[in-house]
Amino acid sequence: MKIKLFKQEIEGSSIRQIERSSGEVLKNCYQCGNCSGGCPVSYEMDLPPSQAIRFLQLGKVEEVKKANSMWLCVGCQQCFSRCPKSVSAANLFEALRQMSLRQGKDHREIRDLPVSFLEKAPQQAIVCGFRKLVS
Ligand code: SF4
Ligand code: SF4
Repeated sequence: MKIKLFKQEIEGSSIRQIERSSGEVLKNCYQCGNCSGGCPVSYEMDLPPSQAIRFLQLGKVEEVKKANSMWLCVGCQQCFSRCPKSVSAANLFEALRQMSLRQGKDHREIRDLPVSFLEKAPQQAIVCGFRKLVS
């Protein structure tokens, strides 16, 4: 019965799309919390990585999309390096960002950034930043 319910919740959401796009298998996570413990920005996240993954496991995609977590993730892969099950929260957040951006949410144009910022910011920071902010 529980498995049937879980399947229905998953099928009613875009969980499969997230797994396909990220290359991650959500059920591999057994909620040890190592990822959240090592994440340098989890203290600012509405949902730390392990909690976001739990929500996704339960099919609560919209809750995760509404949280600020995917936008704060800096892609350092500390979560992946600490995960005993080789799950990358970074890849899941990246997939969620791409899905949101393709739906036209939070899209940023590089021409909207101040020239003073573009002149001073390291090139890598701009590339990484825009990897997050454009689809
Ligand atoms: S470290 Fe891995 S197994 Fe542990 S909660 Fe995070 S994703 Fe899940
Ligand atoms: S990649 Fe993102 S979620 Fe993972 S530890 Fe770094 S900031 Fe946290």
